[in-house]
Amino acid sequence: MAETRKTKLLIIGSGPAGYTAGVYASRAMLDPILVQGIEPGGQLTTTTEVENWPGDSEVQGPDLMLRMEAHAKAMGTEIIGDIITDLDLSKRPFTATGDSGTKYVADAVILATGARAKWLGLDTEEKFKGFGVSACATCDGFFYRGQEIVVIGGGNTAVEEALFLTNFASKVTLVHRRDELRAEKILIDRLEKNPKIAPLWFNQLEEVYGTDSPLGVEGIKVKNVKTGEITDIPCKGVFVAIGHAPANELVKDTLETHMGGYVVTKPDSTETSIPGVFAAGDLTDHKYRQAVTSAGMGCMAALEAERFLAETDPT
Ligand code: FAD
Ligand code: NAP
Repeated sequence: MAETRKTKLLIIGSGPAGYTAGVYASRAMLDPILVQGIEPGGQLTTTTEVENWPGDSEVQGPDLMLRMEAHAKAMGTEIIGDIITDLDLSKRPFTATGDSGTKYVADAVILATGARAKWLGLDTEEKFKGFGVSACATCDGFFYRGQEIVVIGGGNTAVEEALFLTNFASKVTLVHRRDELRAEKILIDRLEKNPKIAPLWFNQLEEVYGTDSPLGVEGIKVKNVKTGEITDIPCKGVFVAIGHAPANELVKDTLETHMGGYVVTKPDSTETSIPGVFAAGDLTDHKYRQAVTSAGMGCMAALEAERFLAETDPT
């Protein structure tokens, strides 16, 4: 029979927002349950060096997230490896259903489900996903030693991935739809100094092509957005790094969202449109989307949940 777990506070998500909420909520004696989801540790587990986490001039993303997990656990957060597949926010206590079959019944909920990589939506991108097309250089870069690779995008992720991939690839072409990158200056500087990276401006991916048996990429066709000219780039790997969209599947029909699906919170607060439901991190942040801002919002959510529970359930 399916298990039912009752808790004062359920935290959904195990990125910087979720774990920080766990630390604060545990110290407030709320005995929180945190459900990790499909990506324990969140987005930072898909990168290597993190250079802007205060206190660490350089730390590996996966290590940082293991430390956050250990910290939340040490403070008293119960961390559960499950994925929430359904969330009923229509009445309190709220009910979440896990992929394991477990029901989580909670007086308050912190949503910290973060964001996921966006895809271009091309049929040929879909066809070769996992067979030469990837959205995670740290996961898949190793497969392309000595090969030519293409990265699509012009933000921090695209530039970091291009730089990282030069550890393996013979050449990395960075295809961007404009001639200006939105990445941080320090990363652009590193990119410009790296002889293995060749930017291709004003171009969009049109098609990925390759072999069917075995399935594998042989190259891409890109289109110049100004002239319409098609260029063929032979390559074995294509890394799509065109941004992230909020992981709002659980709440997109029940909570107010804006700016492409980010959960709306009250000004200077993590309160959502439903009392007792708080949102923190990349799920709600269309502007900064950083580990440190997500952690900050996790802290705010836990403090606000504590106050909410004290006011509504004073015993
Ligand atoms: P996320 O880290 O996105 O975590 C979301 C969590 O929610 C995951 O654990 C997931 O499993 C869980 N989840 C989702 N759905 C469910 C569900 N249904 N049930 C249960 N759990 C669920 N920021 C920096 O400050 N510095 C950097 O150097 C940096 N590098 C980056 C490199 C890359 C490649 C990427 C992609 C991002 C980088 N960022 C960096 C951004 C940073 O990772 C994010 O801002 C931050 O991780 C957001 O934290 P979060 O807690 O909101 O969510
Ligand atoms: P992003 O900043 O939104 O950049 C997305 C890039 O992809 C942009 O250059 C955009 O082009 C391009 N793009 C979007 N849609 C496209 C399409 N359909 N076709 C072609 N190109 C497209 O996303 P991100 O780089 O993933 O970064 C997400 C967040 O994580 C940011 O807040 C970032 O600062 C953070 N992050 C931080 C670090 C770090 O601190 N070191 C590292 C990684 C990520 P345009 O520029 O033309 O819009």
